Amino acid sequence: MRKIVAPAVAQLYLASLYLFLPLMPLLASLLFMRSKYVREYRDTLRKVRIHIAALKEGPAQHYFHDVMGRGSEVPQEIHGECVQCGNCCMDRRCVFLEPIANDKYQCGIYHSPFRKLSNCGSFPLNQWDIDRYACPSYTASAVIPIHPVPATSQ
Ligand code: SF4
Repeated sequence: MRKIVAPAVAQLYLASLYLFLPLMPLLASLLFMRSKYVREYRDTLRKVRIHIAALKEGPAQHYFHDVMGRGSEVPQEIHGECVQCGNCCMDRRCVFLEPIANDKYQCGIYHSPFRKLSNCGSFPLNQWDIDRYACPSYTASAVIPIHPVPATSQ
């Protein structure tokens, strides 16, 4: 069921982003309490277009299929530490990503509670998530459930 519903909902979501495109800088400023998105309206709008194009390549569907309601069936343990390469930020096409020194990037809305509800808040969900952005840092290993063996009577 999720396989049918997720792509349809993702399409609706993307269509609504295009519909409200001119309002996006204002909405971003209000939602994330950062005036720069509306102050730099033209630049934000250009970045939002790039952001939506990147969302269309899979992240929107991933959100409705895997993140919302957690579709992963095999629980995984995640190891590693972010090195701020920006790969998982839709290959550095996220509108909120900001370059810092030495080819590193930081999230401009990192502390927003809304960010935690997104794909970013769940990354990396599993090995597939890690592989699709060629994350150089994290690895996932399957959690092997422990089944208690009943004691044999002597
Ligand atoms: S791809 Fe991995 S190392 Fe790079 S920013 Fe994302 S989490 Fe950090």
